[in-house]
Amino acid sequence: MLKENTYNMPEGKLIIFSAPSGAGKTTIVKQLLTLNPLLEFSISATSRSMRENEINGTDYYFISADEFRKKIDNEEFLEWEEVYKDQYYGTLKSELERIWLKKHHVIFDVDVVGGLNIKNAYSKRALSVFVMPPSPETLKQRLLNRSTENDESIKKRMDKAHWELGFADKFDLVLINDKLEDSVKKANEIVINFIKQ
Ligand code: ADP
Ligand code: 5GP
Repeated sequence: MLKENTYNMPEGKLIIFSAPSGAGKTTIVKQLLTLNPLLEFSISATSRSMRENEINGTDYYFISADEFRKKIDNEEFLEWEEVYKDQYYGTLKSELERIWLKKHHVIFDVDVVGGLNIKNAYSKRALSVFVMPPSPETLKQRLLNRSTENDESIKKRMDKAHWELGFADKFDLVLINDKLEDSVKKANEIVINFIKQ
């Protein structure tokens, strides 16, 4: 669900990386952040539980489902999704303000529907990139290797991935994430070109 776009500051672009879970978008976005000091990560809010290696306020703002629903009622989100049952994810409007005030460009790591919604709201000011795994089998293997999901969660993510792959051609660009080093290099070129436009 998308809230109306009320942010029309003259500076600051939006760079959106979307993909099925496990395709590698977080890995690519993290590397881009180390390569380009003008980029700043939009920290999403979520009601899912925190993974062992995650930091509250860095990876996500971890809040309860009740708190999340209150923020929906208060219209604090630019967009939000119930990505999995009772697991909400959303972009807080305050994140864009925070980042643009620093004269940085916002980089997003969001699901496919969220990515398309943000792109539709900001049009040419936003670049949407779909990170494509080389194959569904590789996607599943990456989820298994990440060791963050149980069997049920992997199944949920794979079921959703098959549906999400059908949205790739709605994005400005598709980036095949086969060899990580090549993908990061390509992603960085894409971002640099877009920022200087
Ligand atoms: P997403 O953010 O899309 O859910 P992640 O960035 O968490 O995906 O990546 C999923 C797993 O795949 C992680 O363990 C990550 O280290 C690994 N990974 C990412 N890109 C590649 C790649 N090009 N080759 C092999 N493994 C990768
Ligand atoms: P994970 O639980 O693996 O961190 O994320 C699950 C999915 O939710 C991923 O596809 C991730 O990109 C997406 N996601 C993360 N933040 C947001 C957000 O703010 N909005 C939307 N729509 N999806 C998000």
